[in-house]
Amino acid sequence: MSSPFYITTPIYYPNAAPHIGSTYTTTYADTVARYHRALGEETFFLTGTDEHGQKIAETAAKEGVEPKAFVDRISERFRSTWQELGLTPDRFIRTTEAAHKHAVRHFWQLLHDQGQIHFQDYSGRYCVGCERFLTERELVDGKCAQHQVEPVLRTEANYFFNMAPHMPWLIAELESNPDLISPARYRNEVLAMLRSGELEELCISRPRERLEWGIPLPFDDQYVLYVWLDALINYLTGIGYPDDPDWERRWAGVHHLIAKDILKPHAIFWPVMLHAAGIPLYQGLHVHGYWSMDNQKISKSLGNLVDPLIMKQKYGFEAFRYYLLREMSFGLDGEFSEEALVRRINADLANDLGNLANRSLSMLERYFEGVVPESSGASELSQAAESAARQLDQQLRGFNTQRALIALWELIGAVNKYIDTQAPWKLAKAPASRDQLGSVLYECMEALRVIAVLLEPFMPETSARILGRLGDPAPGATLHEKLRWGGLVPGTQTRKGEPLFPRIETS
Ligand SMILES: [Zn+2]
Repeated sequence: MSSPFYITTPIYYPNAAPHIGSTYTTTYADTVARYHRALGEETFFLTGTDEHGQKIAETAAKEGVEPKAFVDRISERFRSTWQELGLTPDRFIRTTEAAHKHAVRHFWQLLHDQGQIHFQDYSGRYCVGCERFLTERELVDGKCAQHQVEPVLRTEANYFFNMAPHMPWLIAELESNPDLISPARYRNEVLAMLRSGELEELCISRPRERLEWGIPLPFDDQYVLYVWLDALINYLTGIGYPDDPDWERRWAGVHHLIAKDILKPHAIFWPVMLHAAGIPLYQGLHVHGYWSMDNQKISKSLGNLVDPLIMKQKYGFEAFRYYLLREMSFGLDGEFSEEALVRRINADLANDLGNLANRSLSMLERYFEGVVPESSGASELSQAAESAARQLDQQLRGFNTQRALIALWELIGAVNKYIDTQAPWKLAKAPASRDQLGSVLYECMEALRVIAVLLEPFMPETSARILGRLGDPAPGATLHEKLRWGGLVPGTQTRKGEPLFPRIETS
């Protein structure tokens, strides 16, 4: 029973339009998914929207619309934006779907039947932004550290999930599997939270008299579920839990990609929920940092959102996509600026990659009328290509697009250097060097082909444009087949085409 590669993004909270943060996460997942598809692996990529809870109810009320009408509109905006950007989720899930409500109710009924849920009065400090009671330790100067507001004192009867019996198991899992949460700093952060012993009980319900907009508890319809405990289950609903017999096979290969602000629900609540329900833990939780601009976090409340559709209009989404995947060190915060984006376009795309494609195809056109010459069998660049493919594989399996792209650009640099050293324009002047000229240009073309193949998960359109100019060699083959050196057939007619990335002039 082989499991597919299954990757998820968080489901986005549709109280704001897609911006750089959600675009980054979704593009990242898209890149990793494309890579596994290219390897010929069965792959499943899930994204969607998280549509319940108090904040949604309040935002809808402010706009004077019903919550359902509100989330229909914003959810559609997420779905259509990803489509317009060419991102390729296999399923776009919405937590207001009947299938999801069914999965959620099934899950919590199971835990209730097993006696893991109890009902009691509780008094505490409640943060409306977090939609939950906070512990003393989560307060900074009496305020919620994330929302910068003082929580309100509140007493009410609610349902609680007893997490304490599962904690020793979770700590042991984290200690024995250092790659479970990456990068390591987040694993350490989670272990510190767990060892503090604070997290013993989780309030799972909200009284309906206070909040209507949620999924009613299957065992008490006077309460709805706390939105996080409905949302997390989307990762199971998305693959057919509980009724599709294939869901367990799909689940066995799951990796979650998240931003650091939702570490706790994913690294503590979710594993404990899975363990309580007898479902195996995920394979990996991969955590990235925030994008900031002028040293401020990019967020709806600060009003400094970067609209991916505007970036697409100005620079093309391929260039923006490259910038996102290349610029941020995985796990750390990244600083967005259009100046840095333009620098990347000019240096990496126009200069390194664009110039390589342009000058090698131009020389082939000039000296061989665009027809791929015979190779003498020498393959000076094949080792550099193999090494780049190996490093890229290792980095993408470790969820590091930045290092994968650095490895690929080292190969681009090596080919550019090879052209400078071999100086085909000098060989072209001596008729006796005709075979050598052919061999040198064959090497360049073949290296360009391999670069385009490796580029596909990161920049699918650019990859297709380059391969199209090389006569579309080996369409439909798996990545390993395409990477075999010598795939470009002598006699193939190539096309030079327009420059791939015109330089952007800056004044
Ligand atoms: Zn808060």
